[in-house]
Amino acid sequence: MTLFSEFGLAEPILKALASEGYEKPTPIQAQSIPYVLEGRDLCGIAQTGTGKTAAFALPILHRLETNRRPPIRKGCRTLVLSPTRELSGQIADSFRAYGRNLRLSVSVVFGGVNIGKQERELVNGVDVLVATPGRLLDLIDRNSLSLRDVEILVLDEADQMLDLGFIHALKRIVKLLPRERQSLFFSATMPKSISSLADEYLRNNPAKVAVTPVATTAERVEQSVIFVQTNQKSPLLEAVLRDDTIDRVLVFSRTKHGADKIVRYLEKVGISAAAIHGNKSQPQRERALSAFRAGTCRVLVATDIAARGIDVEGVTHVVNYDLPNVPESYVHRIGRTARAGATGVAISFCNDEERAYLKDIEKLTRLKVPVMPLPSDLPAPVPASELRREQPQRGRPAPHARGNQGHGAPRQAEPNAENGPKRRRRRGGQKPNGQKPGGQQTQTQGHKPAQHHGAPRRSEGRGDGAQVAWLDKGPRRG
Ligand code: AMP
Repeated sequence: MTLFSEFGLAEPILKALASEGYEKPTPIQAQSIPYVLEGRDLCGIAQTGTGKTAAFALPILHRLETNRRPPIRKGCRTLVLSPTRELSGQIADSFRAYGRNLRLSVSVVFGGVNIGKQERELVNGVDVLVATPGRLLDLIDRNSLSLRDVEILVLDEADQMLDLGFIHALKRIVKLLPRERQSLFFSATMPKSISSLADEYLRNNPAKVAVTPVATTAERVEQSVIFVQTNQKSPLLEAVLRDDTIDRVLVFSRTKHGADKIVRYLEKVGISAAAIHGNKSQPQRERALSAFRAGTCRVLVATDIAARGIDVEGVTHVVNYDLPNVPESYVHRIGRTARAGATGVAISFCNDEERAYLKDIEKLTRLKVPVMPLPSDLPAPVPASELRREQPQRGRPAPHARGNQGHGAPRQAEPNAENGPKRRRRRGGQKPNGQKPGGQQTQTQGHKPAQHHGAPRRSEGRGDGAQVAWLDKGPRRG
């Protein structure tokens, strides 16, 4: 199967795909679409970036369209459950884009925003409802939504749902669904806990499809690791970002607090950056994302959960400021530069405590990450005292900052996935170290401009101990 037209999808959907510029199905689409069109249950192992949203959205839209009937009041015909607000929003956008020539209604509901508007949208029922589990249950509890009309259930990013502690919510939701339904189950990984959940929820002779084993994604990304002390991570990041061939970079921090600290540091040294994580309000996240998409802010600092569902074209680099303690997260992170077949660059900073994480990652990807040396002339870190002094000046740019995206924005506590009950422990029972991620600056010398900076340039050698050159970029810009 090489063309969308060969699936027998309705003409208005094919038209929409043509306007999206999709020429042929991705492997997960080629495998999944025929099964979903047949009405079979499906268990798919696929990561974000493989085109899995269209793999379920296209045949669902086709089925809804060819079997048109008005949804019941406060009901929905298709329910898509997703773990985060960003991902939910993107799934809904995809349904709307692919269904733009159909008259089907699509709504999205998630926490952290006013519930009243969502209730009003649901009054007359919708064809497709994309939801995070918590807000969905809130709506059900308020009698604003009924699930008795659901024909198709999609559980997206099931592994992430479990990681975020949504299992009880999920079980409650599934109990409210009609037994007669089609169920589609997608997960990036398939550990035992997920496959038993799939066994429980999928009936109807489920088909199994799998694409892009983790190692394959990792192989597409040019990776390197730099061994560094914790207090050198921020100047190292600064040095990496001085390379203006780096267009759009996603920086990963293990914690929300760490992400904010990184942004503060970058702003302080004149690099425009924004953070996206669960303590940011929805408008703040949207502002950060659109600045990043538009290219007005080339550095987006994110936590794993916030980044999981973000769909941004053209991320050229991923920087792991902290290595994740769950090796699968590393693959998800670096996969952000390898969307829909593109290749990218991933640079990881690894302190002494994180070496064990690196080992786990190399075991999972079955690849040795080439080591790059630290640049010999790292700029001195901005002292912590200076960073702290900046904080209260909300909304005011740092003296030599070029932008103010996300800087100094008020933190808002709100229910969100990252405040969920648990994070997975690394294998072997080893706990994450006590090191504070986020590059706490402990040195006290003043920040002085470095003589020269540069992002690492990969030399030909790959494999362990690959040789790397540092580009001399001359004096600091901005
Ligand atoms: P997803 O894995 O669903 O997050 O999709 C990843 C990216 O691939 C999104 O930006 C989609 O718009 C894009 N995409 C999905 N299917 C195709 C296709 N068949 N051809 C080109 N791009 C696609």
